[in-house]
Amino acid sequence: MGLASAYYLLKSGWKVTLIDKGDLSDNCSHGNAGMIVPSHFIPLAAPGMISKGIKWMFNSRSPFYVKPSLDFSLISWGLKFMKSANQASVERAAPFLRDYHLLSKQLYEDLAKEEGFDFGLEKKGILMLYKTEKAGEEEIHVGRDAQKLGLDVKMLTREEVQILEPGIKLDIAGAVHYHCDAHLYPFALVSQLLKYIYANGGEVVPNTEVTGYNIMAGEVKSVQTTDRKFDGDLVVMTGGSWLPKLAKLAGLSIPVMPGKGYSFMESNSAHPIKTPALLIEARVAVTPMNGQVRFGGTMELAAINDKINMNRVEGIVSAIPQYYPELKVDVPTKDKIWYGFRPCSPDGLPYLGYSKRLKNLIVAGGHGMMGISLGPATGKMVAELADESPLSADIKLYDPERYN
Ligand SMILES: Cc1cc2nc3c(=O)[nH]c(=O)nc-3n(C[C@H](O)[C@H](O)[C@H](O)COP(=O)(O)OP(=O)(O)OC[C@H]3O[C@@H](n4cnc5c(N)ncnc54)[C@H](O)[C@@H]3O)c2cc1C
Repeated sequence: MGLASAYYLLKSGWKVTLIDKGDLSDNCSHGNAGMIVPSHFIPLAAPGMISKGIKWMFNSRSPFYVKPSLDFSLISWGLKFMKSANQASVERAAPFLRDYHLLSKQLYEDLAKEEGFDFGLEKKGILMLYKTEKAGEEEIHVGRDAQKLGLDVKMLTREEVQILEPGIKLDIAGAVHYHCDAHLYPFALVSQLLKYIYANGGEVVPNTEVTGYNIMAGEVKSVQTTDRKFDGDLVVMTGGSWLPKLAKLAGLSIPVMPGKGYSFMESNSAHPIKTPALLIEARVAVTPMNGQVRFGGTMELAAINDKINMNRVEGIVSAIPQYYPELKVDVPTKDKIWYGFRPCSPDGLPYLGYSKRLKNLIVAGGHGMMGISLGPATGKMVAELADESPLSADIKLYDPERYN
């Protein structure tokens, strides 16, 4: 969100300073599955997620886990999640999310044509592969809803999927193919955005933590960091899973829980996978990228920590041959495992817009499992908000202060 915002603000003529507490070589935007997903028009907070979550909580290899805790922020997040996990909220959100993703996809296509950008964008869609009748029924139902929303989606038999994947045998019952989706190589994307920012006069300040905001008369006058103060006319608060901490420094309450996920790369030569897929029952993402294939998954809702839970990684590994029986993947060693924290809002909707309390503050975060997909649209709309121009999509559901 920070890089995409800086990119579009620079394009719009703003003088930009990007401050990050890390060295910008790793964060959630680096090792993810790189999927651009208009297919994800259903927010995470959806009916059925609570019962699935409770069932999965007792299995250490399951794709979703909430660490039981008396932590106030987790309990309060959970209550808000439960309130949002209903059909009416899902139906209300769907067209908004669809438009946000489709805008982003178009912007990725534009970006890929620019000099200096080659981030492996491919428009083969994404296959939702299912093994069981029950999962198939649910996926086909969602696929029909997607078609009603005007998305390009096809229901495929096992044989039809196998034609799309001639290099590898599949053990599935069928798939829903979201032609509207796409994928990219996230590492190349973030590196190239950063390069653009350097090359176009943006100031990049790594290894510098924002520690406060100097506020006067309802405005942020300057941003305080560990060793410097930065003045500016406008502040864009991003911060991923650390957004609540930053918000609190500015006197705001923006709930986000970190949803830890893991990924690792494997060779894609012996039995090449051509089309990205989500292994539905296992909730594992499979993305061919940069000549290899990335497997990613699991969602652990707990405080941010550096521990690698090998049971969860084994859960991903064991799912692979269930769908691709020829692929026998060894459990990767810890140095080959990447992890990141999805910034999950309780209602599964992003935060995007001006703060009502601090008139020169824009918030962009809480994109959960869709931050790569929604990155360019977010950056573009941050620049439009900054310029007070008409917005490219409707952001009324994403009010950053909806929980204040
Ligand atoms: C396994 C996995 C697979 C995923 N797959 C996909 C996918 O296929 N498609 C998709 O769309 N999304 C996917 N996601 C989600 C996506 O990666 C995130 O939504 C996205 O990266 C979030 O971007 P962000 O900019 O909000 O946060 P981040 O990329 O985490 O960036 C936040 C930045 O804020 C900085 N920061 C925090 N606090 C401070 C502070 N006080 N001062 C200065 N800097 C600070 C951090 O250092 C960090 O660099 C996946 C995530 C995971 C874990």
